[in-house]
Amino acid sequence: MPIPTENVGSLPRPAKLQAAIADYDAGRITHEELKAVQDEACRDSIQRMEATGSPINSDGEQRASSFATYPLAETLAGTGLADNLAGDGQYFAIFTDGHHRQLPRLTGGPFRYKTYAADYLREAIKMADKPLKQAVIAPSMLYLLYPLDGEIEGYTREQFMEDLVDECEKDIRLCFAAGAKRVSIDFTEGRLACRNDPNNPWTGRKMLEQFIELNNRVLDRFTPEERVNIGIHTCPGGDCDSTHSADVDYAELLPSMFKMNAGYFLIQLASETDKERVYKLLGEHSREDANGVPQVCFIGVINPQNPRVETPEEVRDDLLLASKYIPVERLGSTDDCGFSPFSIDVKPKHGSPDFARDVAFQKIESRVKGTQMASEELGVV
Ligand SMILES: [Zn+2]
Repeated sequence: MPIPTENVGSLPRPAKLQAAIADYDAGRITHEELKAVQDEACRDSIQRMEATGSPINSDGEQRASSFATYPLAETLAGTGLADNLAGDGQYFAIFTDGHHRQLPRLTGGPFRYKTYAADYLREAIKMADKPLKQAVIAPSMLYLLYPLDGEIEGYTREQFMEDLVDECEKDIRLCFAAGAKRVSIDFTEGRLACRNDPNNPWTGRKMLEQFIELNNRVLDRFTPEERVNIGIHTCPGGDCDSTHSADVDYAELLPSMFKMNAGYFLIQLASETDKERVYKLLGEHSREDANGVPQVCFIGVINPQNPRVETPEEVRDDLLLASKYIPVERLGSTDDCGFSPFSIDVKPKHGSPDFARDVAFQKIESRVKGTQMASEELGVV
């Protein structure tokens, strides 16, 4: 079997869509008018991703407010916020360029998603000729909706966690029921949990192990056959061409991360300074048997923050080097992150979101070609 390759999820939203979202927030257009622009962006995303030769694709998350807030609000500005939430929650991340992103705050129970990822997937599948994957958010990110200290009156932390685990399980099951070939869980908060940033209190609370346990509560509800197709994505963040935790040593994260009983991992790596060291860590810590599934390591070979397009040869060489440390039957390739995890992102290093979309498809094509070249060289076609 050739080396598998898969994107994380998002693509930059076209300038036209970002303008339509602003119009919708301001009440200048209806939801139906917004949906027409989203439909057009989804169709364009799927068709162009399929044209790269990629065996599995996504709608580029064109309908989602962000990878983390899609279950909670229609737009990043908070239009259509779900019940029992207020807009003023914790910063989940402060990025190196100084900007931050904030989560809503839970004000009471029960906690319920307003939108499931499958709601987008059902629309996308009608537009696709090839298989689709779907990304969902990790319970560990949504855990941050609950206040860091104390308890919400009438809704204990444990009650919230039970509701959260139920909702995350349902989010994944609905994706498979809608026809997803694979489902990956975004876990950007994993690396950030090791950061200890005094400006962002939760990052100093040593929450990584708690996150891992919580995510395993969801994963353990799936059979090994199901978990083969359930992945985890790790990265140092990606928003406005900036990261939030690239300075955290992978050695602090990886031994814990691979305790999650997922069948595959989408791992940022192209933008690491010492890739070979990380390949070695992946070989050491990923497991041949994670409660019945082998853990496949999809290494990042494309950097979505940088407009320079990697060549297929560079992709091939990364995979060949990684194969010295990771068994080839447990090796795959991916992009370091989604190309634009938040809906409002002008992609400053690229100059415009529309140009960044063009670049993204070129990068995906390089990943697909380079991965094929590596498969040929390693004799696994
Ligand atoms: Zn990411």
